[in-house]
Amino acid sequence: MARRPPGGGAVGSGKRGDPRTGSRRRPTRKAPRDPRCKPRSLGASSRRVADPAPGDATTLRRVRTRVTRSFTFDAAHQLPWHPGRCRQLHGHTYRLEVSIEGPIGEHGIVCDFAHLNTLVRQAVIDHYDHRFLNDLLANPTAELLAADIWRRLDLATESPLRLAHLRLWETPDSAVELWP
Ligand SMILES: [Zn+2]
Repeated sequence: MARRPPGGGAVGSGKRGDPRTGSRRRPTRKAPRDPRCKPRSLGASSRRVADPAPGDATTLRRVRTRVTRSFTFDAAHQLPWHPGRCRQLHGHTYRLEVSIEGPIGEHGIVCDFAHLNTLVRQAVIDHYDHRFLNDLLANPTAELLAADIWRRLDLATESPLRLAHLRLWETPDSAVELWP
């Protein structure tokens, strides 16, 4: 958009051409020099783009913002219905990622990371860490464990904050994801 020089550039070169024009060559040489206008217009446009401050309130009103923290907890389980090794008693170091969504408040944050930390530790980690999951859930698959974690976090999250996303890694390469 801004790269198109205003008509003034062409007029200016025309005026310069006129006094010197004894020959017709001058105007034709000036025409390719039009690119001189470009640095001027580029300079103006880059100034316009740089003007809005980062974190501009207008921009932030248009996008959704999530804050995320991750946690780990250790637990044991067994899946009696499983045809393979998972029917045996074994343990995992679960990795849990929790994202909260909400408006950006007057201090420029959705929610203090420390608050999110406390919320997840009280609602989830304290409940599941170093436990035998079969004592807590009838069928502690990663999917059903994640669903119960969602329920606990959803209850603990107060408006205007909202639970936006949850990812539970049962192993380093296998995860379950939940979102509304
Ligand atoms: Zn397992």
